[in-house]
Amino acid sequence: MPPPVPSPSSRRVAVIGAGAAGLVAARELRREGHEVVVFEKNNQVGGIWVYTPDSEPDPMSLDPTRKLVHTSLYASLRTNLPRESMGFQEYPFTPRPDEGETRDPRRFPGHREVLLYLQDYAREFGVEEMVRFEREVVRVRFTAEGRNWEVRSRSGGKLDDENYDAVVVCNGHYTEPRVAEIPGIDSWRGKQMHSHNYRTPEPFQDQVVIGGHASAADISREIALVAKEVHLASWSVADETYGKMPAYHNIYQHSMIESAHEDGSLSFRNGKVVLADVILHCTGYKYRFPFLDTHSIVTVDDNRVGPLYKQVFPPKLAPWLSFVGLPWKVIPFPLFELQSKWIAGALSGRITLELEASNIPKRYTHCLDLDQFEYNDWLAAQCGSSGSEQWRKKMYVATRENRKLRPETYREEWGDHDSVSEAYKDFSRY
Ligand code: FAD
Repeated sequence: MPPPVPSPSSRRVAVIGAGAAGLVAARELRREGHEVVVFEKNNQVGGIWVYTPDSEPDPMSLDPTRKLVHTSLYASLRTNLPRESMGFQEYPFTPRPDEGETRDPRRFPGHREVLLYLQDYAREFGVEEMVRFEREVVRVRFTAEGRNWEVRSRSGGKLDDENYDAVVVCNGHYTEPRVAEIPGIDSWRGKQMHSHNYRTPEPFQDQVVIGGHASAADISREIALVAKEVHLASWSVADETYGKMPAYHNIYQHSMIESAHEDGSLSFRNGKVVLADVILHCTGYKYRFPFLDTHSIVTVDDNRVGPLYKQVFPPKLAPWLSFVGLPWKVIPFPLFELQSKWIAGALSGRITLELEASNIPKRYTHCLDLDQFEYNDWLAAQCGSSGSEQWRKKMYVATRENRKLRPETYREEWGDHDSVSEAYKDFSRY
């Protein structure tokens, strides 16, 4: 496909990262007529979905000088959203039986299938040709009131400075571990690891305590197959919670850890004490933009990136600086797609930004959950695109309920057949 001829409103835009967010941003920006360069520090597209058995040498990822590993996936990971709902609106994530055994046709496929889908997307829309691989952005700063951005990147030890009209940040936010404070942990003698560095269950043979939410449930079931006992500590349950997990002889559910002790024991809020060998922290991640210098116009405070208008534009620097992909507890890819269309249209001047303030408690600023659909519909209205399809909303809600009800089998048993049929009817348009 020949590159579109730049129009008078065409901007030179730097996109940082070639994960799902960067890929769709690049496509939408070029579609709008902008000149796009994508910087990617890895040697391939896909971001977090590029699995590697390697993990960081520091199991808690606390050493700021450590060699970073971008992915946080573990070997057995399957998606937690059905593929129909997970895919981009304009590029359905349907099974590819014609490509034989290399593909995973399941509704909740393994991680490799997602990577292959993102590679297909990049190929289909000629995104790879915009990507500069193995080039890490080390500094981004603005001159002339945000209308000129200096991007410094490094490749093979060599630094380059270039100027852009705008920067779109798509660097992902599942790489920098967040760790919960546990009183007494410094003198506790066991091993600790953050789930960012978890790959396979084999090293976890003894008494394991897993704290956190989301991935903690999946990982604890996997580790229970090899460990003597698994104690799952959760924030989202009442303090008195204690009991065996149904269908498992060796998983115990607890409320959160209260304190750690020198003799290797851990006390839980429910009053139980367990002698543990390992704590696996599934405690989430921090937003981090080590390359971004905005003279403190944009900051990260208590894991809130702000101030931002509608999760995307810092008002003082809009539309010249933007972020794709900050929201969590959402269906990420279609949301990235709408954010990208909005940014592309705002940069060309086709879409007018009417900035207004919002006041949401900090830590939950980027957690949208059911509000994501209203948000998507709002974005879609700005772009003149269609919002979230009814079937996608229904499928998200049904999967959310099903996961609560059947945490172990929701990937194999579901009742949302009508939504699946509606989705495939819709996909026939693409
Ligand atoms: P990433 O995929 O992290 O991509 C960011 C890219 O930026 C990377 O390629 C990185 O190398 C690059 N980069 C970073 N910094 C720089 C720099 N300075 N210079 C150059 N390049 C840079 N989503 C779902 O839809 N379904 C699921 O089932 C699902 N399961 C998940 C399970 C886990 C364990 C995790 C952690 C996440 C899961 N997600 C899931 C969410 C997933 O992160 C998003 O779907 C999405 O892939 C994020 O894309 P991204 O482009 O924002 O970030």
